[in-house]
Amino acid sequence: MSATLTPCAPDAAIQAATPVAPAAVTTATAQPVHFHAPHKSPKANARVAQRVWSVAEIAALLELPFNDLMFQAQTVHRAHFDPNLVELATLLSVKTGGCPEDCGYCPQSVHHESSVEATKLMAVDEVRSAVREAKASGATRFCMGAAWRAPKDRDIEAVSALIRAVKDEGLEACCTLGMLDDGHAEILRDAGLDYYNHNLDTAPDFYNDIISTRDYQDRLDTLVRVRNAGISVCCGGIVGMGESRLQRAGLIAELANLAPYPESVPINHLVKVEGTPLANQADLDPLEFVRTIAVARITMPKARVRLSAGRQSMSDAVQALCFVAGANSIFYGDKLLTTANPSGNADLELLGRLGLKTGHPVARD
Ligand code: SF4
Repeated sequence: MSATLTPCAPDAAIQAATPVAPAAVTTATAQPVHFHAPHKSPKANARVAQRVWSVAEIAALLELPFNDLMFQAQTVHRAHFDPNLVELATLLSVKTGGCPEDCGYCPQSVHHESSVEATKLMAVDEVRSAVREAKASGATRFCMGAAWRAPKDRDIEAVSALIRAVKDEGLEACCTLGMLDDGHAEILRDAGLDYYNHNLDTAPDFYNDIISTRDYQDRLDTLVRVRNAGISVCCGGIVGMGESRLQRAGLIAELANLAPYPESVPINHLVKVEGTPLANQADLDPLEFVRTIAVARITMPKARVRLSAGRQSMSDAVQALCFVAGANSIFYGDKLLTTANPSGNADLELLGRLGLKTGHPVARD
């Protein structure tokens, strides 16, 4: 379940240095790598005039002295958002496990030996209760995830009922359901869906190391359908999967060059789950994660940049640096789909110590 916009022909004009060995902090050199040209949604084209970022430019940002990078990210953040306002989003797995995809990080895949048990789609009343609970805890967005490769027509109808339950309670509704066929995005939109999440996960040149059951273009195609239906796009990726710094730059370039770039950009840190191929992945330097957040903020200045999976193993100090770097949204609640998340109380306590307010960040023009 994770992924944007049109033809992704390699663009030789936009290139950067080569991937280097997977390590926390690596430097780019030599050989060009291809990445997808800016993906323009045909229906969105007319209103988009945004900077095109090369991988090399983004890699150069990642290479900046830490203080310089933080200063730049915080400056961009302040120019577009209230710097002390953070969105709380809640994520509920409404249909867990049994997924035929083989995403290397995911315990919901049937290809991996994890302890996650498959469930059916939750009933409307169960979801409505969860929405009310989330709202009472301060959430303004309610995201629902279902572990499908691609929902069938009947699944889209069933999820539409869940979306209506979220909207009845006055929250923003977001779904992540896998790849969408023609017509599905329109049905979800008509049910009231505000955002559709489909992550690109990683850079195109690292993608095949992580997933083999669908390709990058499949993800881009779904994002085009979402954008063309008029639903806001939530699209980000995961860092710490063994990619190089240059490949992190490649992921951010893909996201920032979507036209328009996503309204919401979740940056996840790999959660190493027993039984998945990435269970024993080497740790990423936490400061590299902070750098990735900062570069997402600089390149996508009006997006809500969400500090997503992986917060459970992050210190308060690292999370605080992520807010300095421009993160203005977090997933809130004890669980993220199937993995643990800091408790709501711990989050509110941290936000309080940092003097951060919760609410609905809206970008200034
Ligand atoms: S394995 Fe399935 S549920 Fe897990 S991330 Fe991939 S598509 Fe989503």
